[in-house]
Amino acid sequence: MTTLAPSIQLTKEKSTEPVIRIQHLDHYFGKGDLRKQALYDINLDIQAGEIVIMTGPSGSGKTTLLSLMGGLRTIQEGSLSILGQEMRDISKGKMLEVRRQIGYIFQAHNLLTFLTAKQNVRMSLELHDEYLAQDIDKIAVQMLESVGLGDRVNYYPDNLSGGQKQRVAIARALVSRPKIVLADEPTAALDKQSGRDVVEVMQRLAKEQDCTILLVTHDNRILDIADRLIYMEDGHLSDAE
Ligand code: ADP
Ligand code: MG
Repeated sequence: MTTLAPSIQLTKEKSTEPVIRIQHLDHYFGKGDLRKQALYDINLDIQAGEIVIMTGPSGSGKTTLLSLMGGLRTIQEGSLSILGQEMRDISKGKMLEVRRQIGYIFQAHNLLTFLTAKQNVRMSLELHDEYLAQDIDKIAVQMLESVGLGDRVNYYPDNLSGGQKQRVAIARALVSRPKIVLADEPTAALDKQSGRDVVEVMQRLAKEQDCTILLVTHDNRILDIADRLIYMEDGHLSDAE
């Protein structure tokens, strides 16, 4: 009994700290007369293991917010912390460390067309020192098998369907077991069934790996995979009705 108590305490503390915490975040594009505010006083906490879906009209600021969370843009005003690390005024080195904990999936799959499916997935592991001593070919193949592409590992992207390419992109984003996955309209280019397949693969892997997902979508048919829905309009974020 006495030995169990401290570890329970630790787990509890860990799980209450949000993986993503955003407070009073504003963002602007342009300078001088052309300066235009894109995000207004964004506040958001996302807990470990949560799947959050963000919807909202085109041009409302969804991609801007995602790119700030992913460390792809500089924080101008307010606070944004990822895995306990404040991203405002962060050093380059620390920024890279945070980025390595995040998997990205974009609307276009962004695969390298001169590499096979396996090589695309492998590349993501090569950025992580801890995998250098491991059989990364094998890990890449296993990951492709888990997204249903075991028979396509040596195919080039041009010879894969849209849904298959997006599943390679998911394999690439999740193979290094990131703590956070940011997905920007990952099903936009897909038909109904492939879109559904793709998010279900993401959902299953996220639960298996206990990773947090923030997914932007216009696709009403996939909203049910979310634990929580949030809504962006004209740079203002709110809970979805
Ligand atoms: P969404 O992803 O919801 O469609 P965005 O975040 O891409 O919206 O864009 C939000 C607003 O910011 C839009 O008015 C857009 O024109 C503007 N914007 C986005 N990126 C840039 C940029 N690089 N330079 C200037 N304005 C931008
Ligand atoms: Mg966008």
